[in-house]
Amino acid sequence: MFKLDDVVAEITDAVKQRSDRGEVASYIPELARVDTSAFGIAVVDVAGNVAVGGDSETPFSIQSISKVFTLTLALGKFGDRLWRRVGREPSGSPFNSIVQLEREQGIPRNPFINAGALAVTDLILSGHQPREALGEILRFMQFLADDSSITIDQAVAASEHRTGFRNAALANYMKSFGVLDNPVDFTLGVYFHHCAISMSCRQLAMAAQFLARDGKHPLTGMSVVTPERARRINALMLTCGHYDGSGEFAYRVGLPGKSGVGGGILAIAPGKASIAVWSPGLDTNGNSHLGRIALEMLTKQMGWSIFRA
Ligand code: GLN
Repeated sequence: MFKLDDVVAEITDAVKQRSDRGEVASYIPELARVDTSAFGIAVVDVAGNVAVGGDSETPFSIQSISKVFTLTLALGKFGDRLWRRVGREPSGSPFNSIVQLEREQGIPRNPFINAGALAVTDLILSGHQPREALGEILRFMQFLADDSSITIDQAVAASEHRTGFRNAALANYMKSFGVLDNPVDFTLGVYFHHCAISMSCRQLAMAAQFLARDGKHPLTGMSVVTPERARRINALMLTCGHYDGSGEFAYRVGLPGKSGVGGGILAIAPGKASIAVWSPGLDTNGNSHLGRIALEMLTKQMGWSIFRA
């Protein structure tokens, strides 16, 4: 444990000093206001030790990291039937790309690109009012993190609702193929709101522990998912979690990971630890620039790459 604390402190110092901070996501006006000098990291190992650095307690907009949790929830409700609506292949395209949808009859490539996440959200919404579906997602996050203070940032949700024309186009296009069951506005509303959940690095790392522990929730010992499903969610994070930057992330970091345009990255070292980093400046693929660099340093020093012999 001593070593992990040292490594986390060293990474925090190194990252704080760098001047190449990336660019904030300006297409969501509310996110464009976030200070790029922020940096946080939290690591929770499977023994329950927690190592934190920098702004690890500051809540930020988790954005697409929420897609890991909506996928988990939807798999729990619908099982493998979910895969009739969404594929499991890397897209090789930006997160908000529309081109593949036409060629593939409105079935999104995977659950982590925006189109795929909208299809997953639509499944969770079926049979419920938007408010109920959103409440279910939020309570799931609070349960996993064992923290009822987690909330939705309404200003971020409203900001994206006002400017989310691309997501509206994706949702309408899928609706035309019969891939969405609910009114497009309802699905978009739930999606924008779950992307606007605010969490700190510590809360995120706590919430994702089940993915590092064969699906088990550490506090209650409950199975959130089966060991097989935990492995599969990790596989999807590795292959699709960083969109068209997924190959580079696997090459450099070597862990399943999911990024969000708020600058967060959740990474899982199976059997070892759950990790969350946050640095708001993004690279050209919309993934946290320094967040990825911090994770690269961490896996290298801890020997946590899943590809290590
Ligand atoms: N809410 C964002 C969007 O739909 C999420 C994108 C992301 O984090 N990559 O554009």
